[in-house]
Amino acid sequence: MFLMSSIEEVIIIGSGPAGYTAGLYTGRAMLKPKLFAGFASGGQLMLTSDIENFPGYPEGIGGPEMMMELRAQAARFGCDIIDKNVDSIDTSSHPFKVNVGKDQFLTKSIIITTGAEAIWLDAGNEEKHKGQGISTCATCDGAFFRDKEVIVVGGGDSAMEEATFLTRFCSKVTIVNRREELRASQIMADRARGNDKIGWKLNRVVKEWVGEQGNFEGVVLVDTISGKEELFKCDGAFIAIGHKPMTNFLGDQIELDGHGYIVPKENTMTNVSGVFAAGDVVDTRYRQAITAAGMGCMAAIDAEKWLEEN
Ligand SMILES: Cc1cc2nc3c(=O)[nH]c(=O)nc-3n(C[C@H](O)[C@H](O)[C@H](O)COP(=O)(O)OP(=O)(O)OC[C@H]3O[C@@H](n4cnc5c(N)ncnc54)[C@H](O)[C@@H]3O)c2cc1C
Repeated sequence: MFLMSSIEEVIIIGSGPAGYTAGLYTGRAMLKPKLFAGFASGGQLMLTSDIENFPGYPEGIGGPEMMMELRAQAARFGCDIIDKNVDSIDTSSHPFKVNVGKDQFLTKSIIITTGAEAIWLDAGNEEKHKGQGISTCATCDGAFFRDKEVIVVGGGDSAMEEATFLTRFCSKVTIVNRREELRASQIMADRARGNDKIGWKLNRVVKEWVGEQGNFEGVVLVDTISGKEELFKCDGAFIAIGHKPMTNFLGDQIELDGHGYIVPKENTMTNVSGVFAAGDVVDTRYRQAITAAGMGCMAAIDAEKWLEEN
């Protein structure tokens, strides 16, 4: 391991809206932040073509384009952005250690903004329809399916919530679930069952998606009891089978909930004093670019005040 001799004020891990906003704020506070952007820099929005709900872009903006602007804005104020993954951190002594390949960085504070990944199905032809027919975020993409027929895959609370929300735009929403029983709470399931725009395909799994790239046409479903296949035509699909927060690299040093999300203790501070977290890696509810950016700002201000006091 090659140890860096200087001690950083703050190291930010992750390069979505939360990370870049933390970089912007700590940069303007003259803390000379170092930001490890990861190999897939820019975060989840690099996968989406149209963002219509981030304030300041009345005509909407492409995801990659917006992330390049956030990155440039953080860099302008002295945020040192490095496109590498953090392999692990060591918070057992102060200054903390951040391990990146063969290099070890020392830092007084850390802001974790490593986000979460929506879990995809990995059904046939999925790659070519991601973001072009298949989405994992109804709040983000529902409005693109006005008066269209869509399916929602999943049987938990988020699938019920997404399906109910989508009925505001869509002419018909069909819930596809691998079992007869739903994992969703009674109240959420009842709400979906009582909605006459929602149809059901229970005991069905998705085998493959149908259509050419940019021209989504539907899905091949398999009946889990009879094994029979059917072609179900629709205009779009929403996968709502959960999210996976990117927290494996933290080991057991930072307190996580049962699903791997970081548990904030005081404002944005984690159970380790001097380690902060923001964005989808702590957020099981809102999961939006604007909320992630807002939390990135909060973590930066919390880190700045903590450094001043300690
Ligand atoms: C298809 C899609 C469309 C969406 N559309 C919208 C929309 O229209 N409007 C909206 O508001 N929201 C939208 N969202 C949600 C939005 O993308 C997220 O809420 C937001 O990106 C969360 O930001 P974040 O900074 O917390 O994390 P992320 O964007 O997830 O970024 C985290 C970053 O950290 C990096 N990272 C992870 N581990 C490490 C590590 N060990 N070391 C270094 N880096 C690491 C990752 O590679 C990633 O670049 C969409 C999401 C998806 C998937």
